Amino acid sequence: MIEHRQTYLTPNKYSRPQTPLKKVTKIAVHYVGNAGSSAQGNRNYFESLKDKHLYASSHYIIGLNGEIIQCIPENEISYCTNQANSYSISIECCHPKTDGKFNDKTLNSLIELCVHLCKKYNLNPLTDIIRHYDVSGKKCPLYWVNNPKEFELFKNTVKKRLEGDELTMTQYNELKQEIDTIFKEIDGIKPKTYSTIEEVPEWGKEAISYYINNNLLQGTDKGLNIDYNLLRLLVILYREKSSH
Ligand SMILES: [Zn+2]
Repeated sequence: MIEHRQTYLTPNKYSRPQTPLKKVTKIAVHYVGNAGSSAQGNRNYFESLKDKHLYASSHYIIGLNGEIIQCIPENEISYCTNQANSYSISIECCHPKTDGKFNDKTLNSLIELCVHLCKKYNLNPLTDIIRHYDVSGKKCPLYWVNNPKEFELFKNTVKKRLEGDELTMTQYNELKQEIDTIFKEIDGIKPKTYSTIEEVPEWGKEAISYYINNNLLQGTDKGLNIDYNLLRLLVILYREKSSH
């Protein structure tokens, strides 16, 4: 287990109802929305809801110094992610400014915690780590709603760590630049579906050929049937793989 402090909330119907969380299939990431606030401050806020009679809580809170506070045991639900509460573990992250961007310490702890949870519950970081936004459309975590590529980068970093492939901060920043470049290249290209390798744009051909040649990609009755977003993702993964 990674280093964290367990200070569970007092059981109460507003922030710790003690409803069993039977099966964990997702990890939901949030931002606290209160710039500059501390993990302990947010924990105290959740505790105070038993008197304020407001429903909200989170399993984990990560502070600006990377400290992790656990408020709710993993076998109980939290009130954090709407309809996903019944199957997800929630993580609230503190942030210095109103843009909601996490600092490196917070981000590093979040990566570690997600690696730990993915291992424990046998989750796939690319599909099982979600934003609050993905569940309810709420702009949370704000920075990752406004900068979805940063969220992709985050999930890929967790995946690499999980595979035992440590990514240093320098490598992380290199990867980030690379992804930035790819996003720039593909900006302005109209979304469409590609059914043959000939239709795939130049920037994607090498990656898609690799997947086809290694039987990682098989078509449907509509041919390859790769849409623009899938192509984008496949190229990112391929370039990331090739760069190490
Ligand atoms: Zn949220």
